[in-house]
Amino acid sequence: MKISKRSKTVSPSLTLSLTAKANKLRDEGIDVISFGVGEPDFSTPQHIVDAAKSALDCGYTKYTAVAGIPTLRQAISEKLQLDLALTYNSNQIVVCNGAKQALFNALQLVVEEGDEVIVIAPYWLTYPELVKLCGGKCVVVTASAENNFVPQASDIEKAITPRTKAIIFNSPNNPTGAVYSKQNYDEIAQVLSKYPDIWIISDEIYDKLIFDGNNHVSLAQYSELFLRTIIVNGVSKAYAMTGWRIGYCACPSEEYAKLISGLQSHQTGNVNSIAQRAAVAAISGENTFTEQMRQTFELRRNCMRDCLDKLTSISYVFPQGAFYYMVKVSQFFGKSVNGRQINSASDLAQIILDDTATVVIPCEAFGAPDFIRLSFATNQDCIRKGITRIQSVIEVIK
Ligand code: PLP
Repeated sequence: MKISKRSKTVSPSLTLSLTAKANKLRDEGIDVISFGVGEPDFSTPQHIVDAAKSALDCGYTKYTAVAGIPTLRQAISEKLQLDLALTYNSNQIVVCNGAKQALFNALQLVVEEGDEVIVIAPYWLTYPELVKLCGGKCVVVTASAENNFVPQASDIEKAITPRTKAIIFNSPNNPTGAVYSKQNYDEIAQVLSKYPDIWIISDEIYDKLIFDGNNHVSLAQYSELFLRTIIVNGVSKAYAMTGWRIGYCACPSEEYAKLISGLQSHQTGNVNSIAQRAAVAAISGENTFTEQMRQTFELRRNCMRDCLDKLTSISYVFPQGAFYYMVKVSQFFGKSVNGRQINSASDLAQIILDDTATVVIPCEAFGAPDFIRLSFATNQDCIRKGITRIQSVIEVIK
């Protein structure tokens, strides 16, 4: 039987396949340490779970409005007011199945066949796949380690062509941990303000995980950009709710939100009614959990730095947010470990997994083939033990 070209253009998620491999080893009783994890290792707070239970007990189990229940849309607009001082009425919010669907919806709203979408590398590996699914073409702008993985405004400008339809930003960033400062965004905003037809999709899913007392900044806060910026966010990372699948688009007009809701109505319809009730409790409830989790991640980040600093043959950029380190490993390409050649980050990741049962994520699929990504969404004991294991491999590279 013939299958569609579209289904074949998408690359399966590498992170998921490595995680599956690690789970298999774990099932075999092997003590696996995973630095591959892309989600907080905390349980969803009890008051959120209780809200879901009570939704079930009241029989809150029917279809809801596609764009989300009014209380959740309202809670999201209040959060945006509080955090970013931006005014969205609840009709400008669409609740989606995770930030992932929110991104897909936003791209579907704006991308025509053949349009160019600028993506900053290193990027979250899903962006290029979503752009492809929408018929768009990815144009990659690389943010170098020397610039702390923040793109230069001039490089963004060089990538703009008459076909540029949108640009995706992600701060705090997966996989780099970069957090764009107000000054970084001032420079970028200055360039983008010259190109009024370019949409901005701002993925802010890690907005609550920023370290060293810094603040989250959104391009939507620039008045000259607001009317063409779609904010994507959700509850997955901030409230340890990855499995609940609640994300959202905050649109600069009700009209766009209606169109997104129309697109979603024929794909998935509304998001799970029970999870929506839980998300109301998350977003509008007391928020000590998120702050405690953030502090824990900051300590783990520092712990991982102390461990990595003992490995003199590697380098990294100290992350300012999210929960990832990007470690440069291209200096090992062309060398070998006990007869096994390392020609890529994937080769090294495979050797580390085979020899030490430790999962690291090679970053080819993130547009950063010289790096591996280490997640610190795991406790400090595992961080120490895992880095020691990686060290045992790196020390014997010849
Ligand atoms: N955006 C980025 C940068 C992410 O890292 C992730 C998840 O890893 C998402 C979006 C997706 O979030 P969600 O689980 O809400 O779909």
